[in-house]
Amino acid sequence: MAVRFFILTCFMQHLKRLANDLVGLLFPNLCNGCGLSLYATEKVICTHCLYDLPYTDFHRYADNRVAKQLWGRLPFEAAMAMLYFKKNTKIQNLIHNLKYKGKTEVGYKLGNLMGDKLAGSELYKGIDYIVPVPLHPKKERARGYNQSNCIADGVAEVLGIPVHKNLLVRKKITETQTRKSRFIRYENMLAVFEVNEPGQVVNKHVLLIDDVITTGATLEACGTALINVGINKLSIAGLAFTQ
Ligand SMILES: [Zn+2]
Repeated sequence: MAVRFFILTCFMQHLKRLANDLVGLLFPNLCNGCGLSLYATEKVICTHCLYDLPYTDFHRYADNRVAKQLWGRLPFEAAMAMLYFKKNTKIQNLIHNLKYKGKTEVGYKLGNLMGDKLAGSELYKGIDYIVPVPLHPKKERARGYNQSNCIADGVAEVLGIPVHKNLLVRKKITETQTRKSRFIRYENMLAVFEVNEPGQVVNKHVLLIDDVITTGATLEACGTALINVGINKLSIAGLAFTQ
């Protein structure tokens, strides 16, 4: 009886391994950056892509281009973006997979990377809370997730700092605003964000997390909403920066 059970167990394990191999063959784990097969030791993004991404090193310099873009628009401690956003490159593939293909793990993985950069930066010290830039609730329902939350979770894991996902609330959709001028967009944006339970962040140092920084209007509006409810310090980090 015991022998028969042993043979059956071996057979089942063999079958399971075969099934796993077959799944791997039919649906190989592909890199979200270059689309090539991942080795068993790699996850989400291949080693070559991770090495080859267009890193900015902005976390090392207070006067980097993201910070300069925001100077005079709102008070902040530090601002950075980890990568340069370039069309038709791996970074565009990664962002596309994160935003439109349901690949939340891309945000988490890149968030981990960003956490490593921030942990080693002299400019990002004493942060109390991480706050992701919110999507409009309707848009988040349609997508099923907010990509900035995924990035924030990845950063939070490395830094060991809590994430406040429902602190900022976006009130209306702003898609059509991309055609308007920066000033009008800013005016509209200011009305868009509200702070839920501001008591939680009064006198705290908040790190605001975004996916792709373009004009900085969204960050400016979110940051201003946070400053208006009485946070002590604001720092800013984006995944990528459009040049
Ligand atoms: Zn790759």
